[in-house]
Amino acid sequence: MSQLKLASRLDPIKPSITLAVTAKAAKLKASGVDVISFGAGEPDFDTPEHIKQAVRAALDGKGVGKYTDVSGILPLRKAIAAELGAVHKTTIDPDQVLVSTGAKHSLFNLFMALLDPGDEVLIPAPYWVSYPDMVMLAGGKPVILETRAEDNFAVTAAQVRAACTPRTRAIVLNNPSNPTGAVYTRAQIEALAQAVVEKDILVVSDDIYRQLVYGDATYVSIASIGPEIAERTILIDGASKTYAMTGWRIGYTAGPLPLIKAMAKIQGQSTSNPTHAAQLAALAALTGPQQCVADMRKAFDDRRTTIVRLLRAIPGVKCVEPQGAFYAFPDVSIYVGKKSPQGTVLADDVQLCDWLVEQGKVAVVPGSGFGAPGFVRLSYACSMADIENGVDRLAKALGQLT
Ligand code: PMP
Repeated sequence: MSQLKLASRLDPIKPSITLAVTAKAAKLKASGVDVISFGAGEPDFDTPEHIKQAVRAALDGKGVGKYTDVSGILPLRKAIAAELGAVHKTTIDPDQVLVSTGAKHSLFNLFMALLDPGDEVLIPAPYWVSYPDMVMLAGGKPVILETRAEDNFAVTAAQVRAACTPRTRAIVLNNPSNPTGAVYTRAQIEALAQAVVEKDILVVSDDIYRQLVYGDATYVSIASIGPEIAERTILIDGASKTYAMTGWRIGYTAGPLPLIKAMAKIQGQSTSNPTHAAQLAALAALTGPQQCVADMRKAFDDRRTTIVRLLRAIPGVKCVEPQGAFYAFPDVSIYVGKKSPQGTVLADDVQLCDWLVEQGKVAVVPGSGFGAPGFVRLSYACSMADIENGVDRLAKALGQLT
């Protein structure tokens, strides 16, 4: 039926591969298959009790469950402005904050507000799966900058300078990175800030994992480097990863007022305000005790050490030590192109991951979804027992390939 012809803007768009792997593992599990999943980028912890309690108390009162200000309730925007202002050593007015339905929604609003057809956005690879597709949905052109495991997956200022054209609008900087767990050093951030200012582009700083940094690494805010870069920085942040609040769907943007107003206009004509109760949860998270964050960080750090040690023990697997977020991103390219005991050649990382979940009963995400074929991503936001048993399954399955 010709009326069902879909919009051509969808032609280049792929479904999210992380969601697909997670769904496949969940389906197998539901049908009784014992699968261990390293798929979801989601803390296994429950939302901390004091956050849930604050929402319960609010629901017992009056007035929760109505439309709010499209941009989010003022107390929440004030709390976000105060927190981000302190972290990024800059002054942020609550009107420069837009609360959205998850950081994913924040990014979507941003690209819709910013990009004209053909405008270019620099995206270092490996990248979070959704950046290129979101840029394309907004009519923009993703320009991928390759990085190497040997360089701890850091994009250089020289690469940024070389990639800039008159159409370049912005670079996306995800620090710490999903999927690599890499954290930029101060020297790297300073060099990138200089290139961004020199080339007169914007930086989209996706800091959703900034509180999950381990060992000697520290999070360095690009906006904090100086006023020239601060005015070119759009901050993307949210409650999902830091407070184990993925399903509440609260993300936020802070940036130049005209841009935030434009994004609010889009939000006002599409979703309106994020769920009121979820905004109250985020307010409790930001203004309440922060010990829960330290406790979860410590648990992630212990799991990180274990998973890296176990992955490195698999013959031929190379794994850079992740310093942030909750992902390990090993190079398994030595196993791509090998033959399974069932007689099929696993020609690429997607086929390898399909086989691993079906035969090995372990779900990992193929690196090609992140622009890094030959790698796989494992989320270690799961129990220590799952890490030990799951990596054991991975090692045994890979050991069967010839
Ligand atoms: N940015 C990055 C780098 C992410 O990994 C995620 C979640 N996977 C998001 C943004 C979006 O987070 P949410 O929409 O849950 O706030």
